[in-house]
Amino acid sequence: MKSWVTKSGYKIIRVLPGRSNVFLLTNGEKNILIDTSISYLWGKLQRRLELLNIETIDYLVLTHSHFDHAANASRIKEKYKSAVVIHMNDAQLLSKGETVIPKGTVLFTTLLVNTLSRFIPKSLIKYTQCEPDLLIDSDYCLKTIGFNAYLTHTPGHTKGSLSLIVDDEIAIVGDTLFGVFRWSVYPPYADDRNAMINSWKKLLDTKCLIFLPSHGSANKRSLLEKNFRMLQKG
Ligand SMILES: [Zn+2]
Ligand SMILES: [Zn+2]
Repeated sequence: MKSWVTKSGYKIIRVLPGRSNVFLLTNGEKNILIDTSISYLWGKLQRRLELLNIETIDYLVLTHSHFDHAANASRIKEKYKSAVVIHMNDAQLLSKGETVIPKGTVLFTTLLVNTLSRFIPKSLIKYTQCEPDLLIDSDYCLKTIGFNAYLTHTPGHTKGSLSLIVDDEIAIVGDTLFGVFRWSVYPPYADDRNAMINSWKKLLDTKCLIFLPSHGSANKRSLLEKNFRMLQKG
């Protein structure tokens, strides 16, 4: 499993890779899981956590309420006795286990959403509902459980998207950035494109050098800076 170590010695492990990344942040004592991937990957997720000898997960942070991130939240909460953390703007959807498909951000995905999404069966994007334990408003500091890290509101992809800033060095950003294309971090879907670009600015205002997205591989700061400048000009 790919992992990163920050300057304070925290480890970030990519528990599930690629399609929908799941990350574990650990300081050796406390564990924070970020997202849970898709329902059918539950078995694999459990096996990976077993391999890592994880018995308790203190916090489960959901970057947002979409099914490819939150589908196993209720299972994690039950098995690992985790407090489920989500932004207040996405909390209601999690309580219902519902996904609202965001708008497309480019012509192709706009067409896709406008046409295909009408035919997507509800059962595919519906998931087991989960009652959150901690609702985030703006910033939330994780010092109380031993991490030089904080959650910050980065809306745009959804109204309640969250990012986790670790050691002012690595950011775990959900779908606010994509890591699927080498030349672009631009997500194909977002509720509010302008809010999302403002969130990029917020991420760039940290000193983070690495941005870990939910889909694809790590983005370097230089790529985010380049994309941000281009969008500002355009
Ligand atoms: Zn999403
Ligand atoms: Zn996603």
